[in-house]
Amino acid sequence: MRRRRDGRDLLKLCRFDADRLGVVDGPLVRDVTPVLERLPAQRWPAPPGDALIGHLAGLRPWIEAARAAAPAIELGRVTLRSPVASPGKVIAVRSNYQGTEADDAGATPPCPELFLKAASSVAGAGDGLQLRLPGRRVDHEVELVAVVGQRLDGPTQALQQGVVAGYCIGIDVTMRGPEDRGLRKSLDGFTLIGPWLTTADEVADPNGLEVELSVNGEIRQRGNTARLVHGVPALLGAAASYFTLQPGDILMTGTPPGVGPLERGDVVRCSIDRLGALRVEVR
Ligand code: MN
Repeated sequence: MRRRRDGRDLLKLCRFDADRLGVVDGPLVRDVTPVLERLPAQRWPAPPGDALIGHLAGLRPWIEAARAAAPAIELGRVTLRSPVASPGKVIAVRSNYQGTEADDAGATPPCPELFLKAASSVAGAGDGLQLRLPGRRVDHEVELVAVVGQRLDGPTQALQQGVVAGYCIGIDVTMRGPEDRGLRKSLDGFTLIGPWLTTADEVADPNGLEVELSVNGEIRQRGNTARLVHGVPALLGAAASYFTLQPGDILMTGTPPGVGPLERGDVVRCSIDRLGALRVEVR
């Protein structure tokens, strides 16, 4: 088990198989599902936000205590689900890398161009990507994803510690066509996130991470989050000026150049420094 210099365990949290909670430990997943019993019991209507993400700080000592004795399973033998089970919303942004469309036009917007995707589009690596409308072109966009860790009801809070619970890799899947953007990006499984949640304290600086996506072994997208036009705090602050953010809300930060089409049978592999690798099959 790796430890940081201050002695705390590094924490990569995954959701796998039928809603099991795991800690990723090298090639193993340690099943710490019993810790979920410590979440407060919920009655209808459930409060907004993802309960696990919202209570992560309080649960973390229990997770770290449970992991050493937890049953271990090989990572390759589990089906990875979205690390956020119940996201309230997915916030995404248009043209947010230097060198892409908006920047080339010499008109980098002073405000990020945010839009929303349906929360029901969120899925994990093991769920794969279903192309449900035959004949429609569908493109991949690899993106750094930040998961909101606490309620945020104004832009001034966006810089506070603890606002981001953690980071993961995302694919913002996009169908081409005349429909509204939010609709074309909200088909089931069109927000693929994972492979797990890397807690924010493991990612000292989210603004210097290499981002890469390949399809069937051929590299299509490559970038570095140092080239984000608007970084994570600016995006969260902009989003929070429109609406309250809740634990488990998902922020997609935009995609580097190289967006391209996907076909049935393709295998997509994405990687971002410190966050692991996300492998998705197109079905
Ligand atoms: Mn995108």
